[in-house]
Amino acid sequence: MAWSYLRENCRIMTATTNTSSMADGIMELESRYGAHNYHPLPVVLDRGEGVHVWDVDGKRYYDFLSAYSAVNQGHCHPKITKALIDQASRLALTSRAFYNSSLGYYEKFACELFGYDKLLPMNTGAEGVETAIKLCRKWAYAKKGIAENTAIIIVCEHNFHGRTTTIVSFSGDPDSHGQFGPFGPGFLTIPYNDLTALAEALKNPNVAGFLFEPMQGEAGVVVPDEGYISGAAKLCKEANVLLIADEIQTGIGRTGRMLACDHEGVHPDMLILGKALSGGVYPVSAVLTRDEVMLCIKPGQHGSTYGGNPLAAKVAIAALEVVKEERLAENAERLGHLFRSEMKRISEQYSLVKLVRGKGLLNAIVVNDSPDSSTAWELCVAFAQNGLLAKPTHGNIIRFAPPLVINEAQLMECVGIIEQTIASYTASK
Ligand code: PLP
Repeated sequence: MAWSYLRENCRIMTATTNTSSMADGIMELESRYGAHNYHPLPVVLDRGEGVHVWDVDGKRYYDFLSAYSAVNQGHCHPKITKALIDQASRLALTSRAFYNSSLGYYEKFACELFGYDKLLPMNTGAEGVETAIKLCRKWAYAKKGIAENTAIIIVCEHNFHGRTTTIVSFSGDPDSHGQFGPFGPGFLTIPYNDLTALAEALKNPNVAGFLFEPMQGEAGVVVPDEGYISGAAKLCKEANVLLIADEIQTGIGRTGRMLACDHEGVHPDMLILGKALSGGVYPVSAVLTRDEVMLCIKPGQHGSTYGGNPLAAKVAIAALEVVKEERLAENAERLGHLFRSEMKRISEQYSLVKLVRGKGLLNAIVVNDSPDSSTAWELCVAFAQNGLLAKPTHGNIIRFAPPLVINEAQLMECVGIIEQTIASYTASK
């Protein structure tokens, strides 16, 4: 999307949201001193609790983005915040030059919860994906017998796996990819949700892994056909290729199961987690896999100064416990059905809403036919004015992903805001 278009929309929104001079001043600071690699809605947030955030002027919003699904447990969850503060006051960082008294407990807890032999701790989601790529390549050479430097990992069109130079090498998004080359080789892109294309690609004996998202979040909440994940797992097993699930956005209860792969009873060879693994208070990511794969990496071959620090370990245990104790996946499943049926009802009333899709509490509506139209942006501006924060993803698609602690009454209040906003927007056209 061109910067001139974004700037113009930002100007329109600022003019229509009555931002205070304090908010304007803060936005000006970021604009003046910060890189322009994001284009935020002009709302300056200052405080959060559960499903709500407040701006610097005290206006309350429902958060329907949840930091791209990192805040599944709700803002400032007391148990996770307590774990953070307690551990920060005791011991935050040791590096992995020494053992620390928290990491082993976290690794055991997560391995038992997700059913893997071992966990490799990192920080951001992109680092988790990088780790999985490195593990897959090591396994290809050490175990599968592929000639060194020739391993191939299959990826999908419209994927989003992060922003590092290796990962953007195989991104189809022109904004992520353009002018960041030269790009690394070793990736083969096939259409998403296409088992025939996967079967064909797997005929290449140099293929070591299939890296995929069980639902494509950034591409606009694209849900594959039922049977895609289990079909892909079967094909990969037959070809002795590692099935690598990027559940950074779909995992930790978001789609109505602990993992999106659980919908089809699939246990990936490698699982990548991030975002809500920490409940949104601290960057924590992880790769989980079996010994045969994990032990291909030896001391000194991979790591991170912060990866596996005691603070991250304690926060991640608390974040996972909250999801279990508060039955957040079950809540996402139940309220997800309700939300989609309400959105479908609204789509039957207002032709502006063309499509509703999603699973659990990861949902989207498609507005307008043209991905280049400004409708989704204008609607998000109006949602914000009415107390609900959401952001367009890919032009004419609006993602709705509230914290999973939302209750039915709150969800219905949000349905009311969405409906009323769409009604006013339609009437104004
Ligand atoms: N993978 C997926 C599926 C994601 O949605 C994201 C972020 O949106 C990432 C990887 C990258 O995570 P991070 O931004 O923490 O590097």
